Amino acid sequence: MRILLIEDEPETAAFLQKALKESGHVAEHAGDGETGLSFARTQSYDVLIVDRMLPKRDGLSVIETLREDEIRTPVLILSALGEVDDRVKGLRAGGDDYLTKPFAISELLARIEALARRSAPEEAVTKYVVADLVLDRLSHTVTRSGEPITLQPREYRLLEYLMKHAGQVVTRTMLLENVWDYHFDPQTNVIDVHISRLRSKIDKNFDPALLQTVRGAGYTIRDAGS
Ligand code: CA
Repeated sequence: MRILLIEDEPETAAFLQKALKESGHVAEHAGDGETGLSFARTQSYDVLIVDRMLPKRDGLSVIETLREDEIRTPVLILSALGEVDDRVKGLRAGGDDYLTKPFAISELLARIEALARRSAPEEAVTKYVVADLVLDRLSHTVTRSGEPITLQPREYRLLEYLMKHAGQVVTRTMLLENVWDYHFDPQTNVIDVHISRLRSKIDKNFDPALLQTVRGAGYTIRDAGS
């Protein structure tokens, strides 16, 4: 990854730059807020590591200015201050994550990798296939053995999510958060109702059954024959 480190303490900067390079990253360094802002505006980085207190321009102001300019590069804020209030200010300013000094370098590396992963564009998958069941994301159509299957929008999203994770167990919580966008009591039967409808559409008249209940865990869609 290409990383910009905006940090004014020379020792911390040198140590971090070395550690980042040793982990295979390209790490550029700016020693004050103005220089950092100018680098971040004119060059492309995967992640920015921004110290909270900086000469010339404060870390929060650097982040706010970048966000005003529609520069969305993920930002990890470093701070010697550990106050909750400060953390909130940093995240409000447009930072994506926050790490309080002193920290373990392994934690810093894990966090910047997570930030970069989150901002990476989703794979351009246009089609999911499990056995003879095909979901085409471009035409928004589903077929099994070549026969068209008509799904309601929520059933389509449910099937899309299950097929994206084909072969894995998908929990009720995962379904609620990703298909319904709610975080409510998973005792609700909304999932059961939709699973049952989906099952009757994709499995009832076909063999083998692809949508399976994993007792006590959730659901999985897989080709049982393979
Ligand atoms: Ca500082």
